[in-house]
Amino acid sequence: DTITNVTAPPSNKAAYDHIHEVVAGGVSSNMRARGVVRPLVVESASGCRIRDVEGNELIDVNMGYGPHIFGYADREVTDQIADQFGRGHLTGLPHRLDRAAAGLVAELVPGIEQLRFANSGTEALMSAVRLARATSGRPLLLTFEGHYHGWSETLLRRPAPEGDRPLPGAAGMIPEAAHHTIQVPWNDTAAVERVFAEHGAELGAVICEPVLGNVGVVPPAPGFLELLRLRTRERGAVLIFDEVITGFRVARGGAQERYGVVPDLTVLSKVMGGGFPVAAFGGSREVMEPLTTYEAFHAGVYAGNHAALRAVTATLTKIRSAPDLYGDLEALGAYAEARVREAATAAGRNVLVERVGSVLSMALLDDASAVDRAGHRAVQTACQQRGVYFHPVPDEPWFLSTAHTTQDIDTVAGVLKESLAQAPAA
Ligand code: PMP
Repeated sequence: DTITNVTAPPSNKAAYDHIHEVVAGGVSSNMRARGVVRPLVVESASGCRIRDVEGNELIDVNMGYGPHIFGYADREVTDQIADQFGRGHLTGLPHRLDRAAAGLVAELVPGIEQLRFANSGTEALMSAVRLARATSGRPLLLTFEGHYHGWSETLLRRPAPEGDRPLPGAAGMIPEAAHHTIQVPWNDTAAVERVFAEHGAELGAVICEPVLGNVGVVPPAPGFLELLRLRTRERGAVLIFDEVITGFRVARGGAQERYGVVPDLTVLSKVMGGGFPVAAFGGSREVMEPLTTYEAFHAGVYAGNHAALRAVTATLTKIRSAPDLYGDLEALGAYAEARVREAATAAGRNVLVERVGSVLSMALLDDASAVDRAGHRAVQTACQQRGVYFHPVPDEPWFLSTAHTTQDIDTVAGVLKESLAQAPAA
């Protein structure tokens, strides 16, 4: 085998067990282990299809958790990244691509005048919160239940057992770090007003996913982002939008363009790099000041390496030169939403469907209209056996791309209908 120099195990299950021998938990991201019933070990991917080690081809609507707006292995993007590797991809020195990539982001995202590049959403978010605290001089942070901002000490949290102070999100985290966080339910206007009334003078920053995309898709309630913008401005807190999912996805300029609310700091990743590991955080020149003076600290050997920047220029140039891209993705999303709803109706099952543009969530519901996680997993497993892959956990949305055709969506909906009809009722 030219990829691994080992013989591929004969089945997905055997391959997964084989990985487990030397990779702790079988994955390098806890997110990938959630809900797995039937392991799927990938051999390759292109367009909207993945091929597994058994040679099965599946239509994928998870799409690597969202980066591939043009599908897997898009030639225009991957050729440029490959070309950059041939020119040296990491020198630890500035490159013309720094200006080109940052310039494109600043041109397309309303809230960004200046930025820094990083390697992952987690890193960029951790740095953005630190920068906000440096700018405001206040450590207290307001966050929202269910919003995922990566796995840093700064931001990984479990919901509050009582009151509004959440707990550290997992074993090994420093309990005190969580004391600097208040957490309230998403779209809860009264809770936000209460926090500002009680803690407005201490609040350094407010952070949210402007469209919640980690508990299914939950759009902002009308006026909610505007309220966050108004109160943060009044009280001198920094408003941070985590646009890791929504950036270049729900509109060219992200959720801030779609909803017309511009934050002080924006965090981007996923679509920006077309699947290459790259992220960014940025805002006005004023808010970036602690990094202009180097008073605040952000660094990284790999941050903004030349290949990552080439991935950004390739992707954003392609996005900028496709005038109908977001209209097309909206239409495809609407088509998929309609087909999924039809499939559920035809199968006589109750599903919750939510969508913003090309991001769609679908969750099986029980008779009491609560999300039926076990049932959803069973439906997912049945779909996977029939050649359609979405995430087994209903919190993870579907991400459509220009590589998905309406015929692909019809296939997905047909498979979903059969699988819904077959799954046992809760
Ligand atoms: N923020 C959001 C909204 C995300 O969806 C994710 C990843 N799914 C992250 C942050 C973390 O990004 P990364 O995994 O690149 O650290």
